[in-house]
Amino acid sequence: MLEDLRVGLSQDIIAKAKEFGADLAGIARVEDLKISPSHVMGGQIPDFGGVGAKEVDGRKPGVVEWPKSAKSAIVIAIAHPPEKPELDWWVLGGKSAAGNTAGNKVLMSINKKLAEWLEHETGAQCMKLPYHVEFGGIYMKDTAVMAGLGCIGKNNILVTPEFGPRQRLRVMLVDIDLAPTGPIDFDPCVDCAMFCRSACPQKVFDAQIYTSEEYGLTQLPGRTGVYSRPLCNKQMDIDTANQQVVVVEGQEEPVKKTMFCRECELACPVGA
Ligand code: SF4
Ligand code: SF4
Repeated sequence: MLEDLRVGLSQDIIAKAKEFGADLAGIARVEDLKISPSHVMGGQIPDFGGVGAKEVDGRKPGVVEWPKSAKSAIVIAIAHPPEKPELDWWVLGGKSAAGNTAGNKVLMSINKKLAEWLEHETGAQCMKLPYHVEFGGIYMKDTAVMAGLGCIGKNNILVTPEFGPRQRLRVMLVDIDLAPTGPIDFDPCVDCAMFCRSACPQKVFDAQIYTSEEYGLTQLPGRTGVYSRPLCNKQMDIDTANQQVVVVEGQEEPVKKTMFCRECELACPVGA
């Protein structure tokens, strides 16, 4: 009976997230996330710094600090199709003093509405998380996998049946036990010719970097330990150096726009 109520509430949350604009949504248990690959490896990787990590006093890059009251994680996603590249353009300046993307603003708005609704309906405390682990975030791709949205592909990105590797994620934690909605049995990479890896301009997947013996895990970055974070960061540095000064709709002052590499997303046939 109690389990039926938990399952029903999880389904209601997913339906409400979609009503507010999410294309996908799911729920994972914090206890399961704590032993998921990125959460186990985070902080153990010696060269974790780079474009995706932040220097924060007292915080080790890559290590998640879990709020004590957190029991479940709600993950939402919006599709990021090739015809909407602007969703992921990093815009700095004008109203975005700290920088942001259009897609992230949409996700934050959905998350805010969902948190307000859930707190009103259940009295639960919702913790809307930032993107960066060092600012209080968690690993969103692992959360999406445990919540049943898809799997980690051979491009080291979340791949979903609906959109392949082309979606953007946002997560919140809640202090109530919700029924998890994953993981699911889905793996389109098994017999694929790995178009994602061939498309990578930095040859990020060409060498074995991490091993199961070293980290005690069977699931490693790039699945088998071949994903080089420093090489991908090198491309992000190049993309940042190539940023453009442009005028965008709704902003009077010119802004700096960075278009980060998506070759390993766009080459994948899944969900295209
Ligand atoms: S192209 Fe897509 S399906 Fe193929 S290996 Fe890469 S992520 Fe998997
Ligand atoms: S984002 Fe670009 S550089 Fe990084 S792994 Fe994908 S294709 Fe390679």
